Amino acid sequence: MPQGHIDRRTVLMGSTALGAAGLLPRPALAQADTTGQGGQAATSLPARGKFVVRGAHVLTMDSGLGELPRGDVHVRDGAIVAVGAGVPAPGAEVIDGNGMIAMPGFVETHWHLWTSVCRPVVRNDDPRYGYFPVTSKLGPHYQPEDSYRSVRLGLAEALSAGVTTVHNWAHNVRSSAHADAELRAMRDSGLRGRFAYGSPQGMPNEQPMDIADLARVKHEWMPNDGMLTLGICSRNVGNDPNPMRGTVTTEMAKKEWGAARALGLPITLHTSGPRVTQLLDDAGLLGPDVQLVHPLNTTAEDRAILARRGTSYSTSPVGESRRPASAGVIQLAELLEAGVKVSMSIDHTTTYNCDCFVCMRMLYSLHQHRIGNKFKLTTRRLVELATIDGARDLGIADKVGSLTPGKRADLILVRTTDINVAPVGDPFDALVMLAQPSNVDTVVVDGRILRRAGRFTALDYAQVAKQAADTAAALRMRAKWP
Ligand SMILES: [Zn+2]
Repeated sequence: MPQGHIDRRTVLMGSTALGAAGLLPRPALAQADTTGQGGQAATSLPARGKFVVRGAHVLTMDSGLGELPRGDVHVRDGAIVAVGAGVPAPGAEVIDGNGMIAMPGFVETHWHLWTSVCRPVVRNDDPRYGYFPVTSKLGPHYQPEDSYRSVRLGLAEALSAGVTTVHNWAHNVRSSAHADAELRAMRDSGLRGRFAYGSPQGMPNEQPMDIADLARVKHEWMPNDGMLTLGICSRNVGNDPNPMRGTVTTEMAKKEWGAARALGLPITLHTSGPRVTQLLDDAGLLGPDVQLVHPLNTTAEDRAILARRGTSYSTSPVGESRRPASAGVIQLAELLEAGVKVSMSIDHTTTYNCDCFVCMRMLYSLHQHRIGNKFKLTTRRLVELATIDGARDLGIADKVGSLTPGKRADLILVRTTDINVAPVGDPFDALVMLAQPSNVDTVVVDGRILRRAGRFTALDYAQVAKQAADTAAALRMRAKWP
């Protein structure tokens, strides 16, 4: 049996063990049940309230509604009811928005959440303990509960930083129970997100991904209440041998992507290695349901193909900017100029943190350093990239990404009175140049207030952190390393 492979009997035992470990849902507090285990209500989340944010500087990120220097946002039953000045909201709880920017929550579009607990093991100054060696070594030792705790740790940080939607790049799905554990962690967190189902660490490149289980996940978990969506994360395609994500031939990609498409699911992959875009296009694989990750070495021909196919590119500026100069630069201006859909992502949080403000700031700095005013990149454009463009990339812009009446209420309040930002002039400049996660005062996802005054309203962070530390220690023991 290949390393890391888990057969179906083990999967069933894994599910039982998971229940015994106390990870099965506790009684619902706030939300009606739907179908299947995936539809069961999230545990201990606050109810969707009726409230109105009054007197905030509202950045709707809706091109029709624009910016309201003093505006209100009325939320009811998880939806945005009205945005404007002095909106009537009888019976609604009033949240004072004075001294705050109200804006859509950040939508990040690629994050290896299962690696979050590797943080205490990964080191920057010793290549033996770099991100890839550590995650490749520990990955095969993950039990479902480790996956749960790792995703939960990452999502707790996401919430604290104002991220309301994630794209969970789950390329360590070792069994059905592991898939369920990651999905349960997403659901229990209250965040919105896409679960990109992938093959486990250590699986041979010749072995196809578990399409039957992918179909099961779709059947059991989708749709739950509109919070979770599903896709696949493909192994790398072409000539880049990558032990971490695996590398498959175009023939294998055609099989796996075809199976995903037959289920109506989108595809994401990393495009490390040269000439990947043209290889994929020659194989007839590209389309608007494909997201590529790390736009560093594209050619003008590549960008023309991507624009033509409607394929998007997700940039993770913090990690990408640490790569050697030979790996290329982040080609944000070139992509935007060519009309390629671009979004922004966290990637992982083992050697950097979840900070969309820093991501925007780095994109701005790198752009100014390399291109400057030859291509005008405004701070407003960067906030779009971090909100509505992320929603477009994940195919949920009809639901979130802007403060538009009728959309779901995913919004954040950012304090403008804190010492690192006050006094605020242009709000977009403040967000991109000055703000940091500690300025995020309030986080609302689907109408549930999950952070208020910079604190979790429901999540027990001490428990999340303790369990993550225990899991990291247990993984090291099991792997007998390092
Ligand atoms: Zn990645």
